[in-house]
Amino acid sequence: MQHFDPIESLANMRHEFGEHGGVNMSIETSTTFTVMDAETMPEIFQGHFGPEQGGCYLYGRHFNPTVYVLGRQIAALEGAESGYCTASGMSAIAGTVMQLCSSGDHIVSSSTVYGGTFALFKEYLPEKCGLSVSFVDAGDLSAVEAAFTERTKLLYVEAMSNPTLRVADIPRLAKIAHAHGAQLVVDNTFCPLILSPLQLGADIVIHSLTKFINGASDAIAGAVCGSTDFISSLMDLHQGSFMLLGPTMDPRVAYSISMRLAHLGLRVSEHSRRALTFASRLEELGLPVIYPGLPTHPDHTLLDGMRNQGYGWGGIFCVDLETSAEASTFMELLQNKDRFGLMAVSLGFFETLLSCSALSTSSEMTPEEQARAGIRPGLVRVSIGYTGSLEQRWSQMEDALRKMGRLPAGS
Ligand code: PLP
Repeated sequence: MQHFDPIESLANMRHEFGEHGGVNMSIETSTTFTVMDAETMPEIFQGHFGPEQGGCYLYGRHFNPTVYVLGRQIAALEGAESGYCTASGMSAIAGTVMQLCSSGDHIVSSSTVYGGTFALFKEYLPEKCGLSVSFVDAGDLSAVEAAFTERTKLLYVEAMSNPTLRVADIPRLAKIAHAHGAQLVVDNTFCPLILSPLQLGADIVIHSLTKFINGASDAIAGAVCGSTDFISSLMDLHQGSFMLLGPTMDPRVAYSISMRLAHLGLRVSEHSRRALTFASRLEELGLPVIYPGLPTHPDHTLLDGMRNQGYGWGGIFCVDLETSAEASTFMELLQNKDRFGLMAVSLGFFETLLSCSALSTSSEMTPEEQARAGIRPGLVRVSIGYTGSLEQRWSQMEDALRKMGRLPAGS
């Protein structure tokens, strides 16, 4: 693999100036765009003109200049030819899958994916679109290979799985998908900058920008990155799932996310630094912690071989407290007594977010499906924030553990 650094790639982009030479780009709020000559309009419809050809825009659901810039920036972060932004991570996933598959086609998916993705694959797409989906343990490469059929169009995994934090072996999974004429689609929401799936052989990368990339928990947004051919197909006037289903990003959201990309590297590094410190200290205390940055994590070496240097191992760790009652007590103490963080779903926020996955973001799965996915009932997912000082936060965590009788005597 050639040297690739997402932040360097972003910095290599041409700077976007504002309309009057402002140092920040302008927000283009218009939903429709004029042409100078009547004959230009049909030429845009026929694809002869567009954002990259003559700088022509047509209508905001097709392309918007501000959203278009953010798409190119996310593509630069992933080292993709092209990128496009959507109103949510879910619409990015749904639109991508519907673009790649037709009725009767088949998907191989990791059994450990975000609950919304799981429900989309297990229930919605089979029922509404006639797709079939096989869920497999993505770490078991022979099971992955065996699940392919003649109709398999894509293999879908999360680079780091929600919430179990297992890491996908992207180069090997890409080989398997390609050997079957299918594409490898990777949701990289949990580890932007840390992993660059396209550089490792994946074909398409999806993000929920709602999480780390935006970082302020004030916008729902998504993105898809891949080849220019694929991204253009999503915008096709006749067959494009983004053009026709319309999960359009608001340009004000695009602007505000774009303004936060400049400090994404700093944020991810600090999330990771704190997560590693917390996970190491919890492990030293003998607590059941799951974090890929710990040498005891089953995918530590795999992740080390794939990750970009300088961004750590990710901002999320889990503590397995066995029962949902213990998980609830822990989260209540951390939020209501110790002010350590907030009991809320989502991740990648500057404050710490705590959730019990089995009862929340993975509750679309039955208990058996959760067990197969490795989601235990007392698993608390901690998306570590960076407000306050690290030592202040650690003493709050210790206090909660002490109250639960989980600290060894004397500590
Ligand atoms: N992918 C992952 C890994 C997620 O955790 C989520 C949401 O939690 C999504 C996709 C969906 O993203 P959004 O909420 O932006 O639609």
